[in-house]
Amino acid sequence: MTNNKTIDPTIKAMLEISEAEGISTAFSRAEAMKPCPIGHKGACCGNCSMGPCRLVKEGQTGICGATIETVAARNFARMIAAGASAHSDHGRDMALTLLAAAEGEAPDYTVRDVNKLLEVAELLDVPTKDRETMEIAKDVAESALAQFGQQKGEILYLKRAPKKRQEVWRRAGIAPRGIDREVVEVMHRTHVGNDQWYESILMAGLR
Ligand code: SF4
Repeated sequence: MTNNKTIDPTIKAMLEISEAEGISTAFSRAEAMKPCPIGHKGACCGNCSMGPCRLVKEGQTGICGATIETVAARNFARMIAAGASAHSDHGRDMALTLLAAAEGEAPDYTVRDVNKLLEVAELLDVPTKDRETMEIAKDVAESALAQFGQQKGEILYLKRAPKKRQEVWRRAGIAPRGIDREVVEVMHRTHVGNDQWYESILMAGLR
């Protein structure tokens, strides 16, 4: 039973034990769970207190007038925003920890891989020549944190993507301006009474 679930021998061993002892796992719960057919299609919207609106008939709209395409796009864009929040907030905490270490407020932390710090400094436009490691670390942390609240332009990490891909994003007008900026815009755009057009909602999600 466990053979086709994972190639990791440790997980395989754990799954065998959990099956033998009747302990539920994400795998067994997924097998037992029948997905809600309306939610599965992204056709249920609970984005405001007038809902939840379930769109089950052809041409039906939510109370706010949102079509099924709009509702599905809103739900999907919000999933993207949640994922971007989760991943970027890990980065924020790392930057805050680096800043605390550089300012002597986190004595248990230090910079072990100086080459990595220099590599990141270059990406974040932080000068490194003839500077102390912790001085560079402080500027790297501050530059990284500034990326979260940046309102205009493009985030500096965009240049890590292949050049062709960067151009595709610029041509489509979806080069991200700031980390928090894009997440907030998706949450705003997908709220009741804002963007009702699925294409622009999805473009904001891509951004
Ligand atoms: S945003 Fe529109 S579709 Fe969604 S719950 Fe509110 S009224 Fe219904």
